[in-house]
Amino acid sequence: MTLFDSPAFEGHEGVHAFFDEKSGLKCIISVHSTARGPASGGCRMWPYASAEAALEDGLKLSRAMSYKNAMADLELGGGKAVIIGDSRTMKTPALFEAFGRAVEDVGGKYWAAEDVGVSPEDLAHTRKVTRYVAGLTGHAAASGDPSPVTAEGVFRGIQLGVRRRLNRDLDGVTVAIQGVGHVGAFLAEKLHAAGAKLIIADVNEDALHDVARKTGAQVVTPGAIFDAKAEVFAPCALGGAINLETLPRLHAKVIAGGANNQLADADVGRAVYDHGVLYLPDYVINGGGIINVAGEIRALGKDEAFDPAWVETKLSRLMETLDEVLDRSKTERRPTHEVANEMARARISGAEAKKAAA
Ligand code: NAD
Repeated sequence: MTLFDSPAFEGHEGVHAFFDEKSGLKCIISVHSTARGPASGGCRMWPYASAEAALEDGLKLSRAMSYKNAMADLELGGGKAVIIGDSRTMKTPALFEAFGRAVEDVGGKYWAAEDVGVSPEDLAHTRKVTRYVAGLTGHAAASGDPSPVTAEGVFRGIQLGVRRRLNRDLDGVTVAIQGVGHVGAFLAEKLHAAGAKLIIADVNEDALHDVARKTGAQVVTPGAIFDAKAEVFAPCALGGAINLETLPRLHAKVIAGGANNQLADADVGRAVYDHGVLYLPDYVINGGGIINVAGEIRALGKDEAFDPAWVETKLSRLMETLDEVLDRSKTERRPTHEVANEMARARISGAEAKKAAA
């Protein structure tokens, strides 16, 4: 199969590969759509087994960013960068500067931010060579780490899902969280404060025990999290957590978490619906972080300071959009991911039509 026939390629405007021998940078920047504005999405650093695996992940994540930005009603298209490498051993200032030169080469069609394996401190090096990077600290327009805002959106989404599917509030509800990194850890604290009981798993023992100490969460092995006796399953690690092998093991009636690309494929989304499980589409519920990043891009464009009130307005509106997805799924008797995809595609093609007419 060639790149252009790959299902993950679907409609991408551009795919850019970069190699820098000195710093060891190997990265792919995928630009899915610029119909609504410059493509924006995080930069992920991961020890992919092959360049093909990195390409496929980048393409899927990039398309999801187009959908996410459209559902969050941002004037941004969708894109994603993936750096092939181990973030625990291979990160250097030179590598993130080389990444900045790659972003600069894409000429403003792509704005980078942080994702798994990449921090605001890393992107400070990227910023030295390109202005097309957000999610930074230390200047008036800076928005900082997007994870707390992502977690806030996921928290509100879980509240909404539990109210709709279980007709109760979070007090006493058990939530199983897969992955307690940046988003998962903030989410755990919010759920704990709301009276939820937690079961958590992570491959990183330090993160796991830190969150357990703060929240009293029960710790299980990464493999056992799918069998946890919980009303809510919150995937907050990497993609593909919900597949035809894991779905029958879940006790949860609600799936709602921060991870991108939670469903292994569209068939799984249908199976989730047929199992009577309420799935809150990932790219809608986890849009808080990109809203925060968009707040920085907006402030930079207007030469103003970052405005948290603008972020809150967008986040509240996103939760209304999430509610609308659930409403339509119920009345049209269709899986939530199908409804969300349709709404996102309509918003993107609306922008394309407007651009063509201008
Ligand atoms: P992170 O790297 O800080 O956290 C991910 C955690 O998952 C890590 O602690 C890691 O050890 C753990 N993990 C990896 N594989 C695991 C497994 N098999 N079982 C259990 N735990 C496992 O990343 P993050 O920023 O918290 O992002 C988490 C997810 O949310 C990612 O899919 C990311 O793309 C998505 N997301 C993040 C943001 C954000 O603002 N950070 C925004 C939107 C979406």
